[in-house]
Amino acid sequence: MPSRSLWSCGGARLVAWTWVWSVALLGARSIPANEVNLLDSRAVMVDLGWVAYPKNGYWEEIGEVDENYAPIHTYQVCRVMEQNQNNWLHTNWILTEGAQRVFIELKFTLRDCNSLPGGVGTCKETFNMYYYETDGGEDEMEEGEMRDGPGMTEEEDRAMKESRYIKIDTIAADESFTELDLGDRVMKLNTEVRDLGPLTRKGFYLAFQDLGACIALVSVRVFYKRCPFFVKSLAEFPDTIPGSEASQLVEVVGHCVNNSLPLYEPPRMHCSTEGEWLVPIGKCVCQPGFEEISGFCQVCSVGFYRSLLESLTCSKCPPHSVARQTGATSCTCEDGYYKIDSDPSNMACTRPPSAPRNAISNVNETSVFLEWSVPTETGGRKDVRYNILCRQVLPEGRGLEECGPNVRFLPRRVGLSNTSVMVADLQSHTNYSFLLEAVNGVSELAREHAKQYVSLNVTTNQAVSVVRKGHTEKSSIALSWAEPDRPNGIILEYEIKYFEKEQDSSYTIIKSKETEMVVEGLKPSSVYIFQVRARTSAGYGAFSRRFEFQTSPYLTATSERAQASIVAVAVTLALVLLAVVAGFLLSGRRCGYSKAKQDPEEEKMHFHNGHIKFPGVRTYIDPLTYEDPNQAVHEFAQEIDVSFISIERIIGAGEFGEVCSGPLRLPGKREIQVAIKTLKAGYTEQQRRDFLWEASIMGQFNHPNIIRLEGVVTKSKPVMIITEYMENGSLDTFLKKNDGQFTVIQLVGMLRGIASGMRYLSDMGYVHRDLAARNILVNSNLVCKVSDFGLSRVLEDDPEAVYTTRGGKIPIRWTAPEAIAYRKFTSASDVWSYGIVMWEVMSYGERPYWEMSNQDVIKAIEESYRLPGPMDCPEALYHLMMDCWQRERSNRPKFDEIVCLLDKLIRNPSSLKKLVNSSHRVSNLLVEHANVQGDCNTLSQTVGEWLDSIKMGRYTELFMEGGYSSLETVAQMTSE
Ligand code: AMP
Repeated sequence: MPSRSLWSCGGARLVAWTWVWSVALLGARSIPANEVNLLDSRAVMVDLGWVAYPKNGYWEEIGEVDENYAPIHTYQVCRVMEQNQNNWLHTNWILTEGAQRVFIELKFTLRDCNSLPGGVGTCKETFNMYYYETDGGEDEMEEGEMRDGPGMTEEEDRAMKESRYIKIDTIAADESFTELDLGDRVMKLNTEVRDLGPLTRKGFYLAFQDLGACIALVSVRVFYKRCPFFVKSLAEFPDTIPGSEASQLVEVVGHCVNNSLPLYEPPRMHCSTEGEWLVPIGKCVCQPGFEEISGFCQVCSVGFYRSLLESLTCSKCPPHSVARQTGATSCTCEDGYYKIDSDPSNMACTRPPSAPRNAISNVNETSVFLEWSVPTETGGRKDVRYNILCRQVLPEGRGLEECGPNVRFLPRRVGLSNTSVMVADLQSHTNYSFLLEAVNGVSELAREHAKQYVSLNVTTNQAVSVVRKGHTEKSSIALSWAEPDRPNGIILEYEIKYFEKEQDSSYTIIKSKETEMVVEGLKPSSVYIFQVRARTSAGYGAFSRRFEFQTSPYLTATSERAQASIVAVAVTLALVLLAVVAGFLLSGRRCGYSKAKQDPEEEKMHFHNGHIKFPGVRTYIDPLTYEDPNQAVHEFAQEIDVSFISIERIIGAGEFGEVCSGPLRLPGKREIQVAIKTLKAGYTEQQRRDFLWEASIMGQFNHPNIIRLEGVVTKSKPVMIITEYMENGSLDTFLKKNDGQFTVIQLVGMLRGIASGMRYLSDMGYVHRDLAARNILVNSNLVCKVSDFGLSRVLEDDPEAVYTTRGGKIPIRWTAPEAIAYRKFTSASDVWSYGIVMWEVMSYGERPYWEMSNQDVIKAIEESYRLPGPMDCPEALYHLMMDCWQRERSNRPKFDEIVCLLDKLIRNPSSLKKLVNSSHRVSNLLVEHANVQGDCNTLSQTVGEWLDSIKMGRYTELFMEGGYSSLETVAQMTSE
């Protein structure tokens, strides 16, 4: 209840009204958790005992009780009627408790001066708040000290005390009350908060100075803020008093509790001056063997483990391992199973692999190629490697001896990741025993377990030691040699390899079942190198060392005798030959290559740069026949580790991504430049398959005029196809760039190369479908190689290919009519395209049919029009082109015939002198096709060539000397 009786002064009476109401409305105070009270006038049960001045002065404590009979202390002053008021009220000593910044919350009412009756001129509407810091408290400044300074007048004493106080602020009321408010009992309580700091002493006094206002100080609360004890992510942070500066943060390192450990770094938080925890850094996690459940670390159960701080929960032990106790930080392997340090903790325990399987050997001279299959049991690991133990079997049962350091293992002897190895430089005709062992990462730990080997016994071959020269002629040398001392089985045949000295890039191999033979067809007065080797069922022995023999420079007595008998020979031959010649000419058989059989026992093959020229045996395998396209790639293409490749330049753009170049350094091989086709990122599985398709095809070819595949990179990204590098890029661009720069022989040489590559492809049963100069690559030696393989893919890739009415893309200008009309793609349609390539080459990259539309081209061909001979084109070449463009595909020449014809033209440059009749050559106009015969036989074949082709080349000399210098004269030979 408000009490009117407390104050006689009208103003004070009004104040008293106010505080009673205000206290009633203050209600119960709840203090935030981060505030600590140092003083709360409302919480003091006894008298506050604050000291007022002047003595018995005007600040007066009013004691009341609230409805709960709790005492209420309020100080009032209201000397608005008198001049020069200076009334002080100071609190007891307030301990800071270590706080450097404190807050003072005042609740008060203040009378509006204007509303005072009579309008008092001295009335104030503010009061001042001061503080005085001291470590001493009561000792230093006793209660009432301000009044009782010894030996001083009250005025002096007071001035001295007041001077110690520092002003905090002048406090004004937001709302002051009037007579009216009192009447209406409107509560106008003000709350003001001031902060104070930095404080450096143990405590301080607060003082309130009234200069003539009408105030009731209802409540004074002094508190500081702190960051209260806090637990976050298993880390405890203690009660923390903030710094003294307003925006200061105090860093606090937390303490990991409850079987937890700091993860990476100790946990930290920052305490703000507002008493809030901010910016958490780091955290605690349960230590290994424990997992966090509902904010507590609980031990892992039996059969479970937790090894890493990063993992959240306990995990079940991986296969073949156990945890027999709770709180396991790792699992132990079952007997016979192992783990190495680098194995991840969640990996199963593993064991050594079983032995390799299906080991086979292939002896080649003094090298052995060993191959095997992966073990049935890999032990549960992917790191299976193979080691080879090589032992020589000593004669006469003297046991085994480990192979010496001279024996080479390619790529290496131990730690092989592939299932094959080449063992080279073994001793000839020696027995060896090889042990192949499979190991994996845990083999070392499982030493007590018996090693699992597979063993192979091998005998190397014996070499022919000496080759002797027998009778020598101008064009032949007789050779003989002795059988190897200890042949490794029955000798099936000998191989004689020979070449003209210093021309070893091209050599010839002849086979013989005897230990002697006459090598024919040699040049007179020339030095040849010969080597012989034997073959048994185990394979080839080593070649003998090189033997150098020279052919005779002049006719020997024998050949003179032979000359005398020429007529006899010729007569005997004549009848046969006439029949052969007639048959040969009549059969219309073009001048094709046929395998030169010297006799049934001797087979002759020509080699160039290490490649067999005419293999004709292997056939192309369509990668489509493989269920898994990846298998096809790895069947035909070697996987190359990307670390062996450096990409240096971009050289072109392919359908699937950039084409680059750079060096390829395969271990044990010399560095070569390669082209690197890449598959751009974000490809689909289908695109990857299409991209690698080309490699599956290219990898099957091995010919100097077909782009050579070095290998593929499929195990890393980007996926790549690695081919030999062709310095001059694609043929069409190359020719355009070098218009008119080459001799006819050089151009024919290029065409010969392309024809040779195409002959190889057709021999293998591969139809290219997109033969065009743009798909031929040229190297620095002007060697042309056919590229761009892959059935439908090449056509998708080719900007020249257009969709036809029957579906499918076709490069119209290059394609034979039957292929356009009903997709009859054959080697004969490739021959048509070859004719177009010839035209492109001879016209230095001119566009076939110029700017005619595809439709017009189809129509013109249908009406028997063909491209005219390019400018300065030899007639013989134009005839060949026209032949390639025969409507009837069976009338077109075969690639082997084309090669044969071009070879002849190259050997006989004069045959290229006659150029296409300029009257035939109407620029940019097509000409009518007149079934020009490009038949090889109609071209000036010489007697020598003819004799060569019937394996009688060695008689050329005799025929020349006998005056039979042309086929006509031979044909006219009579029996006389
Ligand atoms: P492709 O995707 O095969 O048509 O290749 C695109 C371009 O890259 C070709 O036109 C050539 O200019 C270049 N290129 C491709 N392969 C080779 C290579 N083996 N040597 C040099 N350049 C090549």
